Amino acid sequence: MKQIAILGSTGSIGTQALNVIRRHRDLFGVEVLCAGSNADLLIEQALEFQPNAVVIADEGKYPIVREALSHSDIKVYAGESSMIDLMELPAIDIVLAAIVGFAGLKPTLHALEQGKSVALANKETMVVAGAIVTATAERYRAPILPVDSEHSAIFQCLIGEASPIDKILLTASGGPFRGMTREKLATVSLEQALHHPNWSMGRKVTIDSATLMNKGLEVIEAKWLFGVDANDIEVLVHPQSVVHSMVQFQDGSVKAQLGVPTMETPIQFALSFPERIESFLPRLDFMQYPNLTFERPDRNTFRCLDLAYQAIARGGNMPCVMNAANEVAVQQFIDGRIGFLDIADHVENAMQKAPFIPDPTLEDLLLTDKTIRKQ
Ligand code: NDP
Repeated sequence: MKQIAILGSTGSIGTQALNVIRRHRDLFGVEVLCAGSNADLLIEQALEFQPNAVVIADEGKYPIVREALSHSDIKVYAGESSMIDLMELPAIDIVLAAIVGFAGLKPTLHALEQGKSVALANKETMVVAGAIVTATAERYRAPILPVDSEHSAIFQCLIGEASPIDKILLTASGGPFRGMTREKLATVSLEQALHHPNWSMGRKVTIDSATLMNKGLEVIEAKWLFGVDANDIEVLVHPQSVVHSMVQFQDGSVKAQLGVPTMETPIQFALSFPERIESFLPRLDFMQYPNLTFERPDRNTFRCLDLAYQAIARGGNMPCVMNAANEVAVQQFIDGRIGFLDIADHVENAMQKAPFIPDPTLEDLLLTDKTIRKQ
């Protein structure tokens, strides 16, 4: 039985992971649950899954969680440092990194330093500190198992392959605004941006999908996970979201991984790897998808994708700058303070002005993130 710690158990990925665990109680146990501020859901999850410990990052909510779990054996902690410390628990086999944004970096790194397997959904961790994260994983022999559906697909295409990759074909749904002009995008609302055609996800990643920044983050994530130059990662818009991504090899052969668009499949595969275990989710019915189509992304209209390619081409702390500016801009869009097209402008502005650090340490990245957010 594998014991799982979930960073971000109350989010979209976290709750879907608990669905998987609920269906496979004989295979998976829950050792730790960590939430941001949703005390009610954390309590509910703790009572159902009976973990050894829970953490609520928002320290103001600690008394509520402690009181609700006072009649149980579950240990209750608060704050980021507790979340980090708990990654040291010897019983944990796999840490599911499913916090959104930069906040996931430190606990994920600490889990890798303990040699834990990390099922990685939190792509921002890889974007911000890919060099440090991959070096840490190597040093402590800690496997990183991709959860993002595209990266899970690439990972699955590479199983059994020893030859170098020629090219990665990273698919993108195109988001809710595929085909729109800049004039139209200037007036889109938050509600429209949150209405993703194929996936139900947290708000930040949904907005990132609408701007195509999500695909930019995924290009950077793929570069680090699979050791491929970003220029050898091609984004293809595939509105049906059935081909989750593909790998082209040197002989011209292309392998693809397909499935219905649900995150529970890649989450389950990351938790069960190297086994495949039974899933009760609907099977892919090709008759429901008689046309699988592909098109090039419109990089002039959706500028965030280009900004991500620029950030990774410059390297150093630039992806961290881009990520921090994007996190703040997305939140401002959600709060109704800026328009949809302003997101790319803010990110570009930050990238132009930020001091460049070619070979940043973790401290440099923490400071870069803090400074850019403040600006
Ligand atoms: P959600 O917004 O739904 O959930 C985020 C989770 O992170 C919540 O549990 C939240 O807690 C927690 N959290 C937020 N801030 C902090 C903090 N400072 N400290 C501790 N916990 C915190 O996001 P998603 O589940 O959609 O996404 C999670 C990650 O997975 C993202 O990086 C995303 O890009 C990636 N991903 C998501 C996919 C999806 O389908 N949703 C697909 C592929 C990748 P609380 O709610 O209690 O405040």
